[in-house]
Amino acid sequence: MTSMCLYLFFTFLIAVSGEFVWKHHNNEELPLVLEEVHEKCPNITRIYALTETSVNNVPLYVIEFSDTPGFHQPYKPEVKYVGNIHGNEVLGRELLLGLAYNLCEQYIKNDRRIRALIHSTRIHLLPSMNPDGWQLATATGAKDYLIGRTNHHNVDLNRNFPDLDAITFELERQGINHNNHLLRDLTRLAAPLEPETRAVMRWIMSVPFVLSAAMHGGDLVANYPYDESRSGAPASEYSASPDDDTFRELAMAYASAHADMASATRKGCHTTSSDDSVAFNFGKQGGVTNGAAWYSLKGGMQDFNYLATNAFEITLELGCEKYPAASQLLNEWERNKEALLAFMWKVHIGVKGIVSDDSGFIQNAVVSVVNITGPVPRPIRHDVTTGPYGDYYRLLTPGHYEVTASHPGYFPVSRVVTVPHHQTSAHVLNFRLEPTSSWFDSSSFGVYPHGLRDGQPRIYKRSLFQHVARAVLQRRD
Ligand SMILES: [Zn+2]
Repeated sequence: MTSMCLYLFFTFLIAVSGEFVWKHHNNEELPLVLEEVHEKCPNITRIYALTETSVNNVPLYVIEFSDTPGFHQPYKPEVKYVGNIHGNEVLGRELLLGLAYNLCEQYIKNDRRIRALIHSTRIHLLPSMNPDGWQLATATGAKDYLIGRTNHHNVDLNRNFPDLDAITFELERQGINHNNHLLRDLTRLAAPLEPETRAVMRWIMSVPFVLSAAMHGGDLVANYPYDESRSGAPASEYSASPDDDTFRELAMAYASAHADMASATRKGCHTTSSDDSVAFNFGKQGGVTNGAAWYSLKGGMQDFNYLATNAFEITLELGCEKYPAASQLLNEWERNKEALLAFMWKVHIGVKGIVSDDSGFIQNAVVSVVNITGPVPRPIRHDVTTGPYGDYYRLLTPGHYEVTASHPGYFPVSRVVTVPHHQTSAHVLNFRLEPTSSWFDSSSFGVYPHGLRDGQPRIYKRSLFQHVARAVLQRRD
């Protein structure tokens, strides 16, 4: 047979065998696995490639799971997993291929939980962001701690994103409450963007992601923002984001559902003796860490997601070994599969809803939140914005909140809401905004306009929120 015939023959074999094999899938096999899943589950999957390829022209393939593949729907939050960002850290890549296979298989078998997840969520899996690095790491024996980490231009992709932390820290210092979608405030890049970085940036700017995890290896811990320290300290400086409570809950959701990420009795990856003080033993802190409290980095993907978009991303270090042997992969799947699902369900915590006016959706409305659970109201200084259908998703931990929707040209509206424990669907909180002009341009001036008469939604004074916000800011100074 010619090589082309052989290739087609093996493609056929894989397609008909239908069984997922736990092994290291190379860059040619990776899309075949996705294709096989799609053929098995055509109505709930779609395969697409990001807008740009790797330096060596390998497409960056994504498989999407949804009951409306290819379309965003209001009230349906979007979640993503990104694997193999460092080419020599390969477990995430195989776990995502296995996850794709298993989501499809369990869906067909009518697994109630998987069907509920896929019907309520749009899921995107990018098994490999760095196929060129994977190729080099694999070709050189998959042994080295560094070979294959970077892309083909020798650039570390998890240092190549625009440094928006620097912008948010500067705005904090100046007391300016501009705290989201900071890419438009960027004035310079520390380095040119690599094609893989650009492809992922375009992706995350164009899909309204709510939740995300980036997969790495070399330790066992769920790491959450910020990755960059405020002072410039290289390590050991806790760098809390405004959503520190929520990020901790997200990271703990993965860690505690993993076989032993959160185990206090396991050995740390880099501890050589019983003396844990010489290196971090993350099991003893619940399997989670703030990024900069471990070590500080600039240009990471995690903080970029949070500061450029509405997405909350954490970073998963999936194991001590960066390139585990193929024989360990099935066991690693067993150790991670509950965590992979538990984390995706977290896209359904908090509140969600639609912001509209009499004539339809309002895009880019700002949704801001004050935590009023304790005696002192605490504004969460990170607003989210509404998407293509005027829809928003605000991940929150259990508690009481005042949520305010605003948009230029409208009176802001605030409502108080309680976020319960154990949510499998976010609390729905819709807002109907009244244009400021309608108070002046009609003969009904001085009369309550329609829609307000029944007292829903409640209108608070904007000045009250600003008063609270200012008070807390001054306290910080
Ligand atoms: Zn890594």
